[in-house]
Amino acid sequence: MDSSKTIYSGASGVSRPDTSAVLNVEEYASSQPDQGRTGYPKPSGQSLSYWLQQVRSDPLLNHRTTKELPNHVDTVVIGSGITGTLTTKHLLETRPDEKVLVLEAREFCSGATGRNAGHCKPDQFRGFGKYEKALGAEQALKILQNEQDTWEALVSYVKENNVDCDLWIGDTLDVPLDDEVADIARDVFDRLRKAGGKVDHIKVTDNPEEAALITRIKGAKACYAWLASTLQPWKLTAHVMRSNIEKGANLQTYTCARKVTNGENGQWIIHTDRGDVACNRVVHATNAYSAAIEPSLRGLITPKPHMCNKVVPPRAWSGTNALQNSYAVLLPDGGLFSINPRSVGDGAIMFGGSNPGQKELDAWVENHPENCTNDGLARIEYVTKHVRDLVEQEFPGWRDAEFGPGEGFDYSWSGIIGLSADGVPFVGELPGKPGQWVCAGHHGHGMARIFTAAPGLVKLINGQSWSETGLPDVYQLTEQRIKRIEEKTAAPKVAII
Ligand SMILES: Cc1cc2nc3c(=O)[nH]c(=O)nc-3n(C[C@H](O)[C@H](O)[C@H](O)COP(=O)(O)OP(=O)(O)OC[C@H]3O[C@@H](n4cnc5c(N)ncnc54)[C@H](O)[C@@H]3O)c2cc1C
Repeated sequence: MDSSKTIYSGASGVSRPDTSAVLNVEEYASSQPDQGRTGYPKPSGQSLSYWLQQVRSDPLLNHRTTKELPNHVDTVVIGSGITGTLTTKHLLETRPDEKVLVLEAREFCSGATGRNAGHCKPDQFRGFGKYEKALGAEQALKILQNEQDTWEALVSYVKENNVDCDLWIGDTLDVPLDDEVADIARDVFDRLRKAGGKVDHIKVTDNPEEAALITRIKGAKACYAWLASTLQPWKLTAHVMRSNIEKGANLQTYTCARKVTNGENGQWIIHTDRGDVACNRVVHATNAYSAAIEPSLRGLITPKPHMCNKVVPPRAWSGTNALQNSYAVLLPDGGLFSINPRSVGDGAIMFGGSNPGQKELDAWVENHPENCTNDGLARIEYVTKHVRDLVEQEFPGWRDAEFGPGEGFDYSWSGIIGLSADGVPFVGELPGKPGQWVCAGHHGHGMARIFTAAPGLVKLINGQSWSETGLPDVYQLTEQRIKRIEEKTAAPKVAII
């Protein structure tokens, strides 16, 4: 196979001239919507994710550390997802004498972090082709290394702090369901190896029969396996936030920040529905919603609803027959099913990713843009249908299994991902707004990025250089990067390609 023939399609994947097949390299983000849209978090009527359903009696959900908002603090962190919560942690650790206020528009951690598919899967090869072409081999290798570092940091935190969040560590399997996608995956893997990337920790099975045995997926054409995790993301974030509060953080839920304006002596004023707060520093940890409060981010970070299904496996797929791995099942059109069984939890299986039904949802949102931050969507049958088809066609015996009450397809909910206009997150100080910092635009992949991106942001806040953050250079928010994106007005839009 001549890998020099590889060309790179739009943001959603890698393809070659001799095939229409596409290898998905941007989980959960199969298409780029109209980039101008934005919105604040939906104030009521959100769907409850499986994770949020499990914690209904937790007082952190509507916690307010003080009855009233303080008038003045050192830092206001807007957003209580994993980004805002970890940024607060590192600020408190490095600036113990300073006051940090965390504003959350709704319940604690009720954005994407509290609604995702529960996967922390460091990309160890699939994205290399796209990143290499767009950003060069050095940055591409750095991105893969950063994802590995992020996963290790998350696992270390959970282990060192005994966090009760159902952490599972085991082999995640990338499984092409089509010969052409398998060929493209092999090309990308070879290119990574030739570029000096680490590949020894990836177990490759090219033989379809063997791959079907390993993966238990009938139509598997290959299998790439490496270590990753699944976890209960709300519980992990809550653990960090509880420790933040013990260290002096002030968390104010149900407090939407509406605007940031100039105050006196270089301060910033945060205008909320409950009054104003003056501060020296602002951290925008608002991910998908970033452009609503910070208009300069419009077109750079765009909200898009995504679905996740919870499935209780039938008895034939339970007990010793339960799934033992997490998966990315790769379809020929660039679609992807992320499959995350709660192997050390209750055994329920989360199906996320961008399955073909997601395209239909994207098209509907394009025509109804007022839904771009609607995480009240639930039970979207045309997305669930594809999950049903997958398990019935590919998991032997599933279709004929006996389903009693309480087994099978239970529920699906929505969350809002924050698409970055060039496909990688924005970390750094807002140009022209000294003291305002951003860590956002994590696509459907933040769990494999934020455990290093948030501490990296705090290093920058503390005056350290970009290289000291250890993050890939392309994550840095700079005026030049914004200019490059703005000049590239036409597709491809997720676009670094
Ligand atoms: C359905 C779905 C499945 C996903 N699956 C995975 C997965 O399996 N693996 C993975 O790595 N990633 C996944 N992701 C992506 C991942 O969840 C995100 O990248 C990550 O959680 C982003 O974290 P965050 O803290 O930056 O943003 P969020 O968790 O969205 O937090 C931002 C917070 O800011 C608050 N906020 C926003 N604006 C304001 C305001 N003006 N005032 C006050 N508060 C405000 C919001 O309410 C929200 O709580 C998925 C996302 C979705 C939607």
